[in-house]
Amino acid sequence: MVQIDLPELKPGEILLKGMYYSVDPYMRGRMNDAKSYVVPFEIDQPLNGGVIAEVVESKSDQFKSGDVVIGHFPWQKEFIATEKEAKKVDTDLASPSHYLGVLGMTGLTAYFGLMHIGKPKAGETVVVSGAAGAVGIVVGQIAKLQGCHVVGIAGSDEKIKLLKTDFGFDEAINYKTTPDMNKAIAAACPKGVDVYFDNVGGEISDAVIKNIAFHARIPLCGQIALYNSTEVPMGPRLQPMLLTRSVLMQGFIIGDFQDKFPEGIQQLAQWVKEGKLKTTETIEYGFENLPKALLGLFKGDNTGKMIVEA
Ligand code: NDP
Repeated sequence: MVQIDLPELKPGEILLKGMYYSVDPYMRGRMNDAKSYVVPFEIDQPLNGGVIAEVVESKSDQFKSGDVVIGHFPWQKEFIATEKEAKKVDTDLASPSHYLGVLGMTGLTAYFGLMHIGKPKAGETVVVSGAAGAVGIVVGQIAKLQGCHVVGIAGSDEKIKLLKTDFGFDEAINYKTTPDMNKAIAAACPKGVDVYFDNVGGEISDAVIKNIAFHARIPLCGQIALYNSTEVPMGPRLQPMLLTRSVLMQGFIIGDFQDKFPEGIQQLAQWVKEGKLKTTETIEYGFENLPKALLGLFKGDNTGKMIVEA
């Protein structure tokens, strides 16, 4: 933690105070000095990511003090942004932190990955890994709204119970305590897996793919089980199953759907308003707990969206 002085505000700029900071698994990838779809973090510069902030002072006609905005901002308690970098959020429509979760990047990832790539049909079986996390918990609920049989995979008994009692999942499997994941998935999905929304990769995905149905779709959203690996572990990678069962596996990043975001936000907001889509967050309090919250994602500390409230 370092203390810095901020310069004077210039015309068109606003002084912002961070309220809610998003921590996300993709930030781990930004710690590798490698070319990717987002630039790596820079040594000796603050990390940055999705932040909800309050306008403290404004030299822009578009913002006044007290406005609440969202943007991609540095992990600083206070910072200066240009008016182009900030977007106002409607705090009457939803609580500000929801714009980082269900109505933000993770909600949109669930919606577009499932609806545009998974294309679930009523009566089909949908399996989601990382099911109790920010993306997964929304995927499972949307799949239920489509009339599917929904099975979640998560890493604790509390999460398993919550998925079934509060979030309407038909079945949920604790991958940390289940000795034979292949068998458990076969039992939970007697007709095979029509859509596998993959948030984690690795051995969990191997077990799901062993149960994949003919003409299944696999939205490849995340591979958190591998983000800290320095080498991709070898193992049976199951391409023959994908081939002989005519399976479509498609990677995506949420930016692919940017032009459709208004449609996604409108649909998600409507489901939330109607009580059809429930939200949950894990909030760490205190700006100084940002690193702890980020590391917690890799230990399963969160249920729903992990957020730090300053
Ligand atoms: P989550 O809220 O799901 O947090 C991460 C969760 O992953 C943890 O709570 C933990 O839950 C689980 N996890 C951690 N390590 C492992 C492991 N080794 N094996 C299995 N599960 C593990 O994060 P998000 O919902 O934000 O993201 C979910 C996935 O989607 C990530 O892989 C992320 O990178 C990806 N993503 C992709 C996007 C895209 O554009 N393609 C956009 C946003 C996210 P548990 O207790 O169950 O282990």
